[in-house]
Amino acid sequence: MRDEQYVCLTCGYNMIGYHPDFCPFCGAPQERFITADECSSRFEVIATPITEEVARLNSVPPLGHEHSAYRINTGKKTIWIDCPSTFSAKIAAPDKIIFTHHHFLGAVNLYQDHAGCAVGINRADSGFELCRGFTFDNLFEHSPEIDAIKAFHIDGHTPGFTVYLFKDLLFICDYVSFRNDELKFNPFGPIEETAAGGLKLFEILRTHEISKICGFNYVSDLEKWLPPFKNLLAK
Ligand SMILES: [Zn+2]
Ligand SMILES: [Zn+2]
Repeated sequence: MRDEQYVCLTCGYNMIGYHPDFCPFCGAPQERFITADECSSRFEVIATPITEEVARLNSVPPLGHEHSAYRINTGKKTIWIDCPSTFSAKIAAPDKIIFTHHHFLGAVNLYQDHAGCAVGINRADSGFELCRGFTFDNLFEHSPEIDAIKAFHIDGHTPGFTVYLFKDLLFICDYVSFRNDELKFNPFGPIEETAAGGLKLFEILRTHEISKICGFNYVSDLEKWLPPFKNLLAK
């Protein structure tokens, strides 16, 4: 049997080796927690293709506020950006898992135990209480290149926040989100730093050929995403 591990049904956060009264991420009460084993029996992880090499990964049925993870086949390696809340032995585990930030680490420890995948995150995001029970193999100091995936540390929403570029797809998780047709910065975290990170994001867009933005709950063509993003920066 696994070590004690619980999954919050409200947000998908995994608690490793402890059973608190309230979810450390979203504050939901303990009644909302199930064991990781129960999670694996009630939910699957489904890959939805975006391009030939890239797919979006989600728990099915949907698991609370779980953020999408993405799977990239670089030709040599399979890499996930972020990790589903559900551990599923049915989905092939990747060689590496790299994180945009520390909020949605999902069931990464179980994939690590199961398949020995190497897990990386920016060092500035590795020491938070939300990282309790998780172990990281690589702590990025700046913006490394990881098997054809380029990392850009932009700071802001979290101090280690990192976006990733693979070919013409940019992965930005929950840095900004749509409310109706407007884009908003993630309100959790320091506002000034988040806005400064928005300018860094714009610089990446300006200097690279990008066609799609892959976010925490959407994949958008750049031409649709860019006008509301420019409106956001102009505010
Ligand atoms: Zn929660
Ligand atoms: Zn976040």
